Amino acid sequence: MTDCLFCKMAAGVIKPDTVYEDNKVLAFRDINPQAPVHILVIPKTHVATLDELDDAELAGHLLLTAARLAREEGLSENGYRTVFNCKRHGGQEVYHLHLHILGGRQLHWPPG
Ligand code: 5GP
Ligand code: ZN
Repeated sequence: MTDCLFCKMAAGVIKPDTVYEDNKVLAFRDINPQAPVHILVIPKTHVATLDELDDAELAGHLLLTAARLAREEGLSENGYRTVFNCKRHGGQEVYHLHLHILGGRQLHWPPG
């Protein structure tokens, strides 16, 4: 086990507020939500950043899982945002790939 917070969640050592899980991905509620709905979808394998992601099937599964969870959270009608923050300029804080789903309020553009 690496000293990675999200790997520990994927392994079940730390238990987040899980909304979905299968053999490849885990989705859970962000501990510091920036919108009424704020879910993170992560691969269960350790991939540090989007720059290191080279598995197209996994990439597709992350995206389709996010879209399905957004529907299930009731976000389809008004819409929502998905975000991969990548490295320093992207504002990435946890270096285990995660796809943010943000919704339930009007989001603004451009981001800060
Ligand atoms: P980043 O800035 O890396 O794109 O986003 C990291 C996200 O992980 C942040 O939104 C932060 O609130 C969330 N986060 C950090 N630690 C924890 C934790 O222990 N549990 C949960 N559920 N979310 C966390
Ligand atoms: Zn990890």
